[in-house]
Amino acid sequence: MKFGGTSVANAEAIARVAAIIQEQTMAGHCNVVVVSAMGGVTDALTRGVSAAAAGDDSVYCDVANGILSRTREAAESLIPAHDDRAAVLVNAKKIMDGYTAVCESVHVLAEATPRVLDRATSCGEPLVALLLAAHLRGMGVSAQSVKPELVIATDDTFQDAAPLTAETRAQCCDRVIPLISEGVIPVIGGFIGATTEGVPTTLGRGGSDFSAAILGQALDADDVWIWTDVDGVLTADPRLVPNARVIPVLSYGEVGELAYFGAAVLHPRTIRPLVDEGIPLWIKNTFHPEVEGTRIDAEVSPVAGTVKAVTDVRGLSMVTVEGRGMLGVPGIAARTFEAVARCKANVLMISQASSEQSICFVIPSDDVPCVTGELDEEFALELARREIDCVGTLADVCVVTALGAGMRGISGVAGRLFMALDRHEVNIIAIAQGSSECSVSIVVTERDVEDAVLAIHEEVI
Ligand code: ADP
Ligand code: ASP
Ligand code: MG
Repeated sequence: MKFGGTSVANAEAIARVAAIIQEQTMAGHCNVVVVSAMGGVTDALTRGVSAAAAGDDSVYCDVANGILSRTREAAESLIPAHDDRAAVLVNAKKIMDGYTAVCESVHVLAEATPRVLDRATSCGEPLVALLLAAHLRGMGVSAQSVKPELVIATDDTFQDAAPLTAETRAQCCDRVIPLISEGVIPVIGGFIGATTEGVPTTLGRGGSDFSAAILGQALDADDVWIWTDVDGVLTADPRLVPNARVIPVLSYGEVGELAYFGAAVLHPRTIRPLVDEGIPLWIKNTFHPEVEGTRIDAEVSPVAGTVKAVTDVRGLSMVTVEGRGMLGVPGIAARTFEAVARCKANVLMISQASSEQSICFVIPSDDVPCVTGELDEEFALELARREIDCVGTLADVCVVTALGAGMRGISGVAGRLFMALDRHEVNIIAIAQGSSECSVSIVVTERDVEDAVLAIHEEVI
């Protein structure tokens, strides 16, 4: 079971989480608990290091003090036993002193590398693990916090590390399974791992979901439950569509597309470790545990002609490579995407006109300078000869995606989708359909994105 940032934001929330764990334990379930940092903490830790790199040495001190007082406040109300509370606070101070020391060196060097950022941002989750484990012990439930660096082994892609399955499994055998066998609940900070040399890494923002899935796989779990602050996966982002509804069941494929195309409810890589083993995933609400939530597994029979959800991704740009000289010339697409790959940019969507005179694709706006630079260099000769007219960029676009396996092979769905957009006067810049046929993505301007999502939600879902 994994509990997100809002679910562990303060003493009251952590007490609610502990009650859920106790109830599940009494129901005979054997639990391993993964926790996020308190809401806002990872952002604050990042802010402190970035300010230090930019020459400001006051922000990280304020951040460290702020986090320590939040931890102390929670400890005072959650951990009545004096000794246990003092031990938690000594540990918390040690963790935050580590953060301050890292920020001091960042300030001196005026640079924060991805490796250093991981070291600094991995301080939030362990604090919650300490608080929750101590609180559970105070309730008479055996629990112990476990350092995530000793459990989840990863490669060294700092800020976006990938798990090493065999090593993680071996570390779970050494450090997690013995606790479970003794009836002790392991409480592990999510988001964090370490290389085999012991250097801390993180799994990318929102990565605690991924941690839970990695551990679910390594421990051969029966289920993985993600506890969050909404009733399950909803038909749209509730911040944009207030009447979004809970989707009772989704397939791994559907939820994978949903997370990839921007639904913030789940880290996009979460399902990967679960698919092979067929471990079901549940999304549930910490604040309404009685609500069933969303079940995600392999066996979902789609209802033909239905769309399950709509998502949006913002902060994107569309890059176009175009020119008459591209027609029938092999290798242009390969060279285009090799140039993109050199920037490690994530391509959300690709579309090529059938005349082969242009290729356009959508990437995060932050990657545009690198990608256009690489493309200009790659095609310098073709640009000089006017075989390629230009490498153009359209900024401030969004990808809106309608998805659901029920769309497969049903032509009417696309028709309904485009009619709805037309009625709301949304201008479509580009279209792509996933080869799984379980999603259709459209590119619209930032100005049109809310109308597009609302139109699809209202008329198609
Ligand atoms: P946690 O801290 O528990 O990991 P997140 O903030 O990462 O929670 O994810 C939950 C949030 O995701 C919800 O509060 C909701 O605002 C947002 N969200 C966006 N799209 C969806 C969706 N389709 N279904 C559910 N929640 C969504
Ligand atoms: N605390 C991390 C973040 O905010 C990981 C998580 O909450 O899933 O990104
Ligand atoms: Mg999250």
